[in-house]
Amino acid sequence: MLDSVQMFRISAMTRRLPRSFRAAALVAIATAVATSGCAINQQREVEIGTDYAKQVEQQLPIIRDAEIVRYINLLGDSLARVTDTRGLDWSFAVVDDMTLNAFAIPGGFIFINRGLVAKATSLAQVAGVLGHEIGHVTKRHSVKQMQQRQGTAFGVAAVCVLTDACNSGAAQSAIDLAAGGVFSKFSRDDEAEADREGIETAIRAGIDPNGVPELFQLLLDERKSRPTGVETFFISHPLEESRISATRQLIATVPPERLRGLVRDNPAFQAFKRRLAALPPSPEKKPAAPAKPPGAR
Ligand SMILES: [Zn+2]
Repeated sequence: MLDSVQMFRISAMTRRLPRSFRAAALVAIATAVATSGCAINQQREVEIGTDYAKQVEQQLPIIRDAEIVRYINLLGDSLARVTDTRGLDWSFAVVDDMTLNAFAIPGGFIFINRGLVAKATSLAQVAGVLGHEIGHVTKRHSVKQMQQRQGTAFGVAAVCVLTDACNSGAAQSAIDLAAGGVFSKFSRDDEAEADREGIETAIRAGIDPNGVPELFQLLLDERKSRPTGVETFFISHPLEESRISATRQLIATVPPERLRGLVRDNPAFQAFKRRLAALPPSPEKKPAAPAKPPGAR
């Protein structure tokens, strides 16, 4: 249960949200915190995740185009089913946002930004991102944080930011909406584990795992070529070169026969990309809030 100090803290955290959303965020956060005192079983994980996913879908511009929805779920399910052993009901969505991001919510809800798909050049790269996010869910990284942080911190939002940009303004806008400004940042170990999961999942699904380091490289190149503008978060929270080399080294240890014949790209993916590009421009975003100092909540 929550004591009065906890309730005060939760209340303070949601103060800057619109009134209508604040109530929902309060309930969701309080529920998650109250739940965090004991082990969170799969049913609770799904309940918490469903609540958050609903809020995200209400507050972020989700692309509803039937063909886009169909394809991202087809691709996502083809990856999830080769690694999920718990029978989760997975859901994948494209956010109409041109910043480069993707995130996962416990229970099997994966979101990828339109901008990340636009930047990717092959099926393997997008599959790598989805595999990474799926890995955060299957390894229950956010759930473990919820269980560990009872009472002292409210790391409940389960937002994975691929670019390690959790404190940035760009990432913050999604996070505010998802969890009333409260979120947990995955540890380096969790990120490395999700990278390994992304590689293994891609291979099992018959897709070239080199998409994982390739996409990291694209993000790094983006940072070099466009150091200002919407991608300013790359400056304060750079993607580490070591993550690229670590994933490349891991792929180098995979027996060659497992890598033979894997798919790098296909016409269906390119058709998906073209359809996404042909949609009306993404909605204007309000200016990003200034980045918070590390550790700020
Ligand atoms: Zn991650």
